[in-house]
Amino acid sequence: MFKKLLLVALCFSGTLSAQDYFYKKFHPFNPDIPSPEEFLGYGIGEHHTRHDLIVSYLTKLAEVSERASIYQYGKTHEGRKLVILTITTPENLKNLEALKKQHLAFTDPSKSPTNFDDVPIFINLGYNVHGNEPSSSEAALLTAYTMVASQNPEINTYLKHSVIFIDPTINPDGRDRHTQWANTYQGSPLVADPQDAEHNEYWPMGRTNHYWFDLNRDWLLGINPESRGKLNWYHEWYPNVVTDFHEMGSQSSYFFEPMKTNGSLNPIMPKENYEDLNNLFGNYFSKALDSIGSFYFTKEVFDGTYPGYGSSYPDLQGGLGLLFEQASSRGHKQKTAFGEITFPFTIRNQYISSITTVKAAVENKAYLRKYQQEFFKSALTNSGKSKVRGYSFSDDYDKNRVKAFIDKLLLHKIDVYESENSFVVPTKQPQYRMVQTMFETYNKYRDSVYYDASAWSVANFYNMKYKAVTGLNLGKKVISTDSFIEAKALQKSEYAYIIDYDDYNATAALNFLQQNNIKVSSSFKPFTAKTRGGNITFNYGALVVPVSLQKKDDNEVYALMKQAQNKFKVPAYSVETGYSLKGIDLGSRYVSPISKPRAAMLIGDGVRSYEAGEVWHLLDTRVHMPITKIPMRNFNRINFDKYNTLVMVSGRYNLSKTQQQKIKDWVGKGNTLITISMASKWAIDKKLVKEELISNDKKDSTETVKRKPYVDAPENIGKEAIGGVIFKVDLDLTHPLAFGYRDTQIPVYKNNSVWIAPSKNEYSTVAQYSKNPLIDGFITKKNSNEYLKKSASLVVSKVGRGRVVLFADNPNFRGSWYGTNRLFLNALFLGDKIDVPD
Ligand SMILES: [Zn+2]
Repeated sequence: MFKKLLLVALCFSGTLSAQDYFYKKFHPFNPDIPSPEEFLGYGIGEHHTRHDLIVSYLTKLAEVSERASIYQYGKTHEGRKLVILTITTPENLKNLEALKKQHLAFTDPSKSPTNFDDVPIFINLGYNVHGNEPSSSEAALLTAYTMVASQNPEINTYLKHSVIFIDPTINPDGRDRHTQWANTYQGSPLVADPQDAEHNEYWPMGRTNHYWFDLNRDWLLGINPESRGKLNWYHEWYPNVVTDFHEMGSQSSYFFEPMKTNGSLNPIMPKENYEDLNNLFGNYFSKALDSIGSFYFTKEVFDGTYPGYGSSYPDLQGGLGLLFEQASSRGHKQKTAFGEITFPFTIRNQYISSITTVKAAVENKAYLRKYQQEFFKSALTNSGKSKVRGYSFSDDYDKNRVKAFIDKLLLHKIDVYESENSFVVPTKQPQYRMVQTMFETYNKYRDSVYYDASAWSVANFYNMKYKAVTGLNLGKKVISTDSFIEAKALQKSEYAYIIDYDDYNATAALNFLQQNNIKVSSSFKPFTAKTRGGNITFNYGALVVPVSLQKKDDNEVYALMKQAQNKFKVPAYSVETGYSLKGIDLGSRYVSPISKPRAAMLIGDGVRSYEAGEVWHLLDTRVHMPITKIPMRNFNRINFDKYNTLVMVSGRYNLSKTQQQKIKDWVGKGNTLITISMASKWAIDKKLVKEELISNDKKDSTETVKRKPYVDAPENIGKEAIGGVIFKVDLDLTHPLAFGYRDTQIPVYKNNSVWIAPSKNEYSTVAQYSKNPLIDGFITKKNSNEYLKKSASLVVSKVGRGRVVLFADNPNFRGSWYGTNRLFLNALFLGDKIDVPD
């Protein structure tokens, strides 16, 4: 190690090094600070750098330099460190707490400081949110080195006027998955042939995090530790400028903002953001890239309307979020129609954009600060322009779901108040725009082609019954939800326990009991029981634990019941009699034992990893239930009889006739197949079930085709796609799949064109789109009338002694659909209880 370092040091300690390709402009460098090349033992761009080495290098910089300090803001699912390196002058760094206080005064609408130019500008350079877009983390190392070690007057000026927060890898788990791949297949000499393994990662690839979530959609939803850690950090610092570096397909050049203009018109965003500021910065980037001969484009694509991007969330916090997209070398060198792209070339563009971001921010310091101050002040004035004074919401039956929603509001620093039995979010608050984001729905769109979702009213994700209020009764401010659910001490029973199934965590409690070999029954009709906590009316699905029927003694059963209650904060009761005050008795045949799910899910090539990850994440993190992930390549040698439930999410499923029959035979034995979105279409297309899709393929061959301009094709075709819309469905509350719901009308999320016809069986259409189904998002009239209004959202179909549960929509979307998770979990836990009457 020492020898190698010495050698490297000998070769590159001079004024010029191979790495001058990147940072020649910023000589001289402090010789006491190791360059990335000296530290790593290879030049940037020669290999893909592992995240632990990235963290080690930044830690080293913080150790050896008075310009830098390092902070850990979280840990990934796989245990990797999430860090930020803070860089500024030694004087600023010593004084950081005081500077922070001055900076934050500009985000407080009750204060009006005017020293816009006195405080350094706060810049957050964020890199590599998509793990297999690796150039930017390498650029982060070069940027950190330049800022820490350069003694060039230009850099000195930047440091004096800014505090730079470098987040080198937003998604370390995904990055390392890709890093391992690219380094494993790297040839020597390099192989530029796009067909080489190096350029063709295997499923699930490195884009996403551990649970295959796209972290560049998670800023709003805050589901993963990477985003939650970052959001906590974010709301402590409110940076003025934030970068989000990406890579796109190889057959391209370089993209920076402004984005597609009509797509950027967010009704709640100050125009100044996407017009003036983006153009101002765009001017800097174009000059910088021109100077190194790099080509680029702007304005044509991408929209910043979805608030969960790394480049749009900062816009909602008075900052300027900046998206960069570099054509990927995906590997170390690749041949493209535009010539050869090398890894160092892609890194250099990202590096130059990083430095240029700092330059532009420093040179417009006062303007950016003034803008942020005005942003938060206008939040208060804008809120006054609407009659709406706030939003109130409540749910009497499911406290854990309410808690999860409030936690989300608090994560975004939205003020929430509790009065009597409901919660109120006033509109007059600095986070007014986030309040709008969470609650408002839109039905007017300037554009109809969406890069991502066209609906994101998060209150609907959580199936919150909320309403806009014109008068306010605030009550007590909610600081935390830690003691929100008080578990009433459960008394011991020698007869039975009942868990209310309306609670979001009831399935987790059920799983806990089943994993501990407790027999649990589900009640298929409501009843009123005399419990030790008073007379309680239980809804469909209440879980009944009969004590005498267990293999364990009553003390053990009691101990497990208490654990289940405490762990998951579910409403649990003890009863001493099976005789109900109303409805069925506990010995009724409608109180039926449920079997433990032995679940598997097909994953791998052709399967949509996002949807599979959502299932895996839900079961791991909320239900704590293991699910076997079966790679498609092993399909033939799997004995499916080990399982009673199989999940198939959207995917291509190129299965032969024999393989399809294998699934059908297995279902026929009494098992449950759960299909989501495109897998439901697949099951119908392959005639696994006797259901139908709605199709309007009866095109008359004599119909004349109307000519259209070629250039309009992407727009015309694009608008027919369902880019993420929230619809209302009508639920059959008596069906086991709908147990735990109280209201027949609930929101669902659709981002596909799977239109299932209502079943011919009268008892099989569990959810159908309501009469006026549109809650939030964009759908064309044609799609609405010809498909949506005629189709079903959730259908159960009998196959032999088993059944297929067909979801047209995605009940687990982005780990955020608390409102529809239950439908999916019911299919898993109650699937074998579903008899489809003939
Ligand atoms: Zn990306």
